[in-house]
Amino acid sequence: MRKKIVAGNWKMHKNAEQTEDLLNELIAKISTDTTAQVIVAPTFINLASAVDHLEFTNIDVAAQNMHQAESGAFTGEISADMLQNVGVNTVILGHSERRAIFNETDALIASKVNTALEHDMTVIFCFGEELKDRQSKNHFNIVENQLKDGLFSIEASDWGNIVLAYEPVWAIGTGETASPEQAQEMHEFIRETVRKAFGSDIAEDVSILYGGSVKPENAKEIFSKPDVDGGLIGGAALKADDFVAIVNAI
Ligand code: 13P
Repeated sequence: MRKKIVAGNWKMHKNAEQTEDLLNELIAKISTDTTAQVIVAPTFINLASAVDHLEFTNIDVAAQNMHQAESGAFTGEISADMLQNVGVNTVILGHSERRAIFNETDALIASKVNTALEHDMTVIFCFGEELKDRQSKNHFNIVENQLKDGLFSIEASDWGNIVLAYEPVWAIGTGETASPEQAQEMHEFIRETVRKAFGSDIAEDVSILYGGSVKPENAKEIFSKPDVDGGLIGGAALKADDFVAIVNAI
């Protein structure tokens, strides 16, 4: 049985004090018997305190990025070891903002994925087409290539540490959501692409999250689709009530 997951990507929001406030609200409001795995991804500087704060809760912590090297002269960067040393064992890689704004290529992302897996970390691997790709009906090709070039060099045995997050770029922070049917169509295609390369067991077991303007109002319908196993939430993860409502929509 694959896992249901709701993850909040806080991006570059919330200072230390605001992080603590939001975590306190989430601890108070997220039911201890929720069926979803709940993950939050605060900024690097607040990860250690978030791990401490959430120690006796059912909420996990992820980083939003990391560097592919073990250590070295990489000013401003953070390594896998540094994350694990403060108790963070999950990392978001390949987010469209990293690809578009920080020029991360599929090859670079693949190398980050490999480093994370060598450390036995869980990777939330993000990918998704831009609006122009969908308009030119090239979206399936783009998604397939992002998977193959950014992820598929991993070993079959690594799939237990992989969560996929399909985030169509045109739906991120725009208020425009993929329809539940569009999400299902792409998630089914993604699972099929994994099946062709790695077989049915892996394809059936991998959780595929949808991200892009998920809100309390649309979460239930999107999550009801058979190949949608949860969500990666941006804006709505910054307000406790909205995030909790989305967790409860699973
Ligand atoms: P929004 O939910 O704000 O559209 O962001 C989605 C996202 O990028 C999560 O990683």
